Amino acid sequence: MTMPINNVVASETEELVPSRYAVKVGDIDVLVVSDGVLPLPTATMSTNAEPAARAAWFKQMFLGPDNFDWALNVLLVRSGEQVVLVDAGLGGQFPGFPRAGQFPKRLAAAGIALESITDIVITHLHMDHIGGLLVDEVRNRLRADVKVHVSATEVEFWAAPDFSQTDMPQPVPDVLRSTAKAFMQAYASKIRTFERTHEVAPGVVASLTGGHTPGHCVVYVDSCGQRLTFAGDALFPVAFDHPDWHNGFEHDPEESVRVRVALLNEAAASGELFVATHLPFPSVGRVAVDGEGFRWVAGFWNY
Ligand SMILES: [Zn+2]
Repeated sequence: MTMPINNVVASETEELVPSRYAVKVGDIDVLVVSDGVLPLPTATMSTNAEPAARAAWFKQMFLGPDNFDWALNVLLVRSGEQVVLVDAGLGGQFPGFPRAGQFPKRLAAAGIALESITDIVITHLHMDHIGGLLVDEVRNRLRADVKVHVSATEVEFWAAPDFSQTDMPQPVPDVLRSTAKAFMQAYASKIRTFERTHEVAPGVVASLTGGHTPGHCVVYVDSCGQRLTFAGDALFPVAFDHPDWHNGFEHDPEESVRVRVALLNEAAASGELFVATHLPFPSVGRVAVDGEGFRWVAGFWNY
């Protein structure tokens, strides 16, 4: 008797594709967890490029032409006694995005309880990074003393956010504003702000970059001479070939280019591991310099 392959999926928390990827950085355990995918118009990926150049890039990547699935990667870091979540995905509460909001069930499938998280770092307050904290199934299970680390600049920015240099599809700006507001209300007592850098746990450092949003930060995981950078939204899949292309979600596109190029150069020089929210899952690799641009080098699975 043959059994259909999808019978392997035994329960809601068990999926055929686990969508989690473990990496060891020195003594620190890192897990990249996919929150699923979010379809976006390709036009948002290069607001300052010729449409023909953009179309050509998407064609050579076998994507598009009008929309493509944007990856949503979340990081979980275990250092010493602390369990640190970096960003929380979109959450499943936004209509039209049924394939996002997967991280809670994928963490559960990995045997990691939301109750075990001691710290959360938020790279920036866009909905695809904080939405996952606003669903009841997550909010109600986080421990009462969980600390949520956000840069002081980011908190300040969202009190009166400037969208004048962005180019987002409607109604995204209003949803971003209301989601950031809801987040600040829900987590006010748990938020711990930092200025430039903050060591959240041994070897786990949040570092302000600005650019994408004025208070955007990246997270470095550093242990025993090895380092991994979680770059958040400092870059997108187009960034290796075209680091100077502006993204419609960037609140300061010129500064975003400077931040992006600096991070890519830093990663290329050090050869350290690199992960970003919207690179294709598992998004664990390295950066190489390639002519005027850069090249993504996928990491080799070693488990
Ligand atoms: Zn994002």
